[in-house]
Amino acid sequence: MNVLSNVIGIYLTDVCNYKCVFCSVDNPSKKEESIEKENIFKILEENKDSDYQAVALWGGEPTTRKDFFEILEKIKECCYETVIIETNGSKFSDLEFLEKTLSNGVNYFIISIHGANAQVQDAISLVGGSFDRTIKAIENLKERGIAVRTNTVVNTLNYQQLPEIVEMLIQKNVDHINISALRTIGNAARNLKMVTPSFSAVSESVKKAFDLAIGAEKSISFDVFPSCTVKGYEEYQLKWTNFKMFYGDKVVNDFARFTNNLKSKGAVCKKCPQLKLCGGVFRGYVDLFGWSEFGY
Ligand code: SF4
Repeated sequence: MNVLSNVIGIYLTDVCNYKCVFCSVDNPSKKEESIEKENIFKILEENKDSDYQAVALWGGEPTTRKDFFEILEKIKECCYETVIIETNGSKFSDLEFLEKTLSNGVNYFIISIHGANAQVQDAISLVGGSFDRTIKAIENLKERGIAVRTNTVVNTLNYQQLPEIVEMLIQKNVDHINISALRTIGNAARNLKMVTPSFSAVSESVKKAFDLAIGAEKSISFDVFPSCTVKGYEEYQLKWTNFKMFYGDKVVNDFARFTNNLKSKGAVCKKCPQLKLCGGVFRGYVDLFGWSEFGY
């Protein structure tokens, strides 16, 4: 489960019902819908007979769209085999909303969880009750045998809790756990110093979390960590192969390359065997901490 391939990613909305302090999309400043439904339908129609047989819906929070179910119906009509949603899970704590989503064909959930308790998660999302709703959503999905992958973004508020978070997710029987480094863009760029821990500071906690998952034979991956900051765990790099992304009327044909364009490379990267997979370090991070931690 650390490889998803032949996926079209459709950015559904800028809007979110949470205000996560590290958000790379900068949702807290977005109040208006900017993506036209007609445009989404066009993408779905144009790709329906291609090699891309999975659709990933993301944003913002996709479930905030008023026409969310209309979009799901269109996906169903186009006969895509896999329908993935990246979500904070809040709406799926509601059984009626969840059942309607399942009956409209969503079959793979990527749920953001950033704390092992309400104190940490709600301080990150800046919305009370967010932890309880996310946990309820995960339980609702697993009770129905639905595939759940979680995503946890490491930041200053949660890094010490990572082993606890992983332990909790193992207990909840999620199918795959992804631990992501912080993308220093969007809201995270605005809060850069407050939310960004150094890779050296988080290293022990990240490795402990990985060892717990590996020991429990639980599928786990990391995303956008420079490989040299997770030495010995490189094989757990998250991979999206043939992942084509649509942002409104813009198309990103190679998402990995798009992400790498937000990064910089130091002298130490020039001959690095991992350069292709890692792509360097987010520029905002280098501005804050420099290059001293990197390299093989
Ligand atoms: S040396 Fe540079 S390219 Fe290599 S893993 Fe580290 S940050 Fe990435």
